[in-house]
Amino acid sequence: MRSAERVAPPDLEARRIEVRGVVQGVGFRPFAWRLAERLGVAGRVRNASGVVEIHVEGSPEALEAFAAALTGEAPTLARVEAVSWTPAAVEGLGGFAVDASVDGAGDRLVSADAATCAACLAELFDPGDRRFRYPFINCTDCGPRFTIIEALPYDRERTSMRAFPMCAECRREYEDPGDRRFHAEPVACPVCGPRVSLLAAPEADDPLEIVAALIRAGAIVAVKGLGGFHLACDATDEGAVARLRNRKRRPEKPFAVMVPDVAAARRWFAPTPPELDALSSWQAPIVLMTGARALAPSVAPGFARHGVMLPATPLHHLLLRAVDRPLVMTSGNASEEPICVTNEDAAERLTPIADAVLVHDRDVVARYDDSVVRVRTGDVAPSVLRRARSSAPSPIDLAIDAAPTLGTGSLLHGAFCLANGGKAFLSQHVGDLDTEESMAAYREALDRFRGVFRIEPEIVAHDRHPDFMTTRFAASLGVPTVAVQHHHAHVAATMAEHGLGGEVLGLAFDGLGLGDDGTVWGGELLVCSSSGYRRVGRLRQVVQPGGDAATRDPVRMALAHARDAGVLAAAIDRLGASSALVDVVERQIETGLASPRTSSAGRLFDAVAAIAGVCRSASFEGQPAMLLEEAVREPTTSALAPVVSRLPDGLLELDTRPLIVDAFESGDVAARFHAGFAALIAEAAIASAADAGLDRVVLGGGVFQNDRLTTELGARLTTAGLRVFLPRQVPIGDGGIALGQVLVANATKERS
Ligand code: ZN
Ligand code: ZN
Ligand code: FE
Repeated sequence: MRSAERVAPPDLEARRIEVRGVVQGVGFRPFAWRLAERLGVAGRVRNASGVVEIHVEGSPEALEAFAAALTGEAPTLARVEAVSWTPAAVEGLGGFAVDASVDGAGDRLVSADAATCAACLAELFDPGDRRFRYPFINCTDCGPRFTIIEALPYDRERTSMRAFPMCAECRREYEDPGDRRFHAEPVACPVCGPRVSLLAAPEADDPLEIVAALIRAGAIVAVKGLGGFHLACDATDEGAVARLRNRKRRPEKPFAVMVPDVAAARRWFAPTPPELDALSSWQAPIVLMTGARALAPSVAPGFARHGVMLPATPLHHLLLRAVDRPLVMTSGNASEEPICVTNEDAAERLTPIADAVLVHDRDVVARYDDSVVRVRTGDVAPSVLRRARSSAPSPIDLAIDAAPTLGTGSLLHGAFCLANGGKAFLSQHVGDLDTEESMAAYREALDRFRGVFRIEPEIVAHDRHPDFMTTRFAASLGVPTVAVQHHHAHVAATMAEHGLGGEVLGLAFDGLGLGDDGTVWGGELLVCSSSGYRRVGRLRQVVQPGGDAATRDPVRMALAHARDAGVLAAAIDRLGASSALVDVVERQIETGLASPRTSSAGRLFDAVAAIAGVCRSASFEGQPAMLLEEAVREPTTSALAPVVSRLPDGLLELDTRPLIVDAFESGDVAARFHAGFAALIAEAAIASAADAGLDRVVLGGGVFQNDRLTTELGARLTTAGLRVFLPRQVPIGDGGIALGQVLVANATKERS
């Protein structure tokens, strides 16, 4: 007990504290310093070997409060995973010091880029502030991170801010532990920092105003952002948007829209509360939402859902305020090419597309698209569909102790994963890996990850498909390789995120992956562990006439499914298919020439989308399925009775024929198909889980991006007493495959 008369100081104690997690480059040291000031404790703090080390001394109560606040009040960007402490000797220190960093082994975690924080935003628009309207304002709570980092430890000289020596004012802030910009490595101001200019008119005053006026007049402008260039135009101007589609050679794939702030998001769209939370989070991702008002139809032709984001950088904030209307903000490239990052590259590749190019003189070290998230029905947190700026390279915690491993990923939605110990670093989305340019971008991103995280893979896992560029790349590395079946990897990716061990029932539904019987898989029920799998069920196989040609032409898949279901005559009428096409498809089905058998759920969606009339020619992968999902107006609960049979080899076959027949005979195809397909998968899954004595069902594969399908399927499985697992941090499509490969390769290695 304390009393007022007591004059002797309270008993002093000291502790040595270690804080683990994403704690460097996030303002953790100044946070500790401010905390020490507030609680009246002495000591010192430093970054060391991937942890923050603190020596602190004071009264036992103050030390207790200090330790609790380290997690309870940690800075926005920090991810505190553990705070551990041991007693230490009291040194009788007089204050709290911030010591220089020491580098060493240990986890090397680094924050992803963070959108401009509220404090910086207030300064940006404060005419009295010295950084008023300065496009590169940032602090320890916000700003570029991984897109400017060349190596760790994270210090200015190892970032592309090295080219900008700090002025006296900035240096004072940088060195003051009480300042919000203490050791904010990208700190800058109009005196010393990067500047924007127009590529064609480098001397122009106020290039931002010029660009804003151009956009208001209907022009297309390229803007250099955090991870590369965007192409921007007025999202309410149909002429401008159509021109952009034309020049970018991207006929229909939806464009993302950027609005200035939350109020504007509410004005132009109808976001739900969790969608607003995701939108205004420090990650500032593209969030899918409905209810668009008065946008140009070409922004997302035929789609009810739009990808919406807020500005992530001060430059974008300034631009959006100046134009004062929603902007299309799409990656700065022609379709199928990697996004432009250098000013020279933009001059060459973007001047044919854009009417003006707004550049700046800070180099983009890592090429990054914007992340895309979706809030699923009944969920509060968003699920990542495309992992890019602001999500990568945040580590994913593994429940295993992984050897240094590389997973090279898939062909579509390319991304790799480097793992070591308990951490996996799943890369940003690199794009479809079917050109030399995209593979070059992939190798460049991989080299940076290897350097920054210092992981030299001893095992390389790849898809079993021999022709994927990522498979050939794996073989070229001269390290032992492990081939992982595509759908096993899909299930394993979800298992990895949830730390699931043992056996689960995996449902892997996607467009395609090479099966181990030489056919194309894509609607699979697998009893899986991380080390192996047994196929227990699949969709009924049909021929995919002409192979890849069918993925661009959903009518071909509709004909193949109709023929299989015995309703070809009705199909020809309904689809308006030419007799020439019908002849070609019939011949391909009979001869099997370049026409594999497939159990693909993606191709089933193509067929039904064509039958429903929502998509009869696809200009991008997934388009028919996305449109079919959106065509569900009123969900129906009365599902067609599922037909599941057991084949001679013991596999369950999920019969697609009743669904196809029903699609031709009934109205409201989209709603009836979703309900019927969910019931069909559920029927087989519940039977398989019972057979195998399992109660955990793990979903993977791009088909489950479909929220209508997963909601109905999830409800049925849950009602049957099964536990359902979906990923959130990891894309459920091929962008998550590399993580699954890493898990499988490590389990396989242990077994052998
Ligand atoms: Zn800030
Ligand atoms: Zn300065
Ligand atoms: Fe896949």
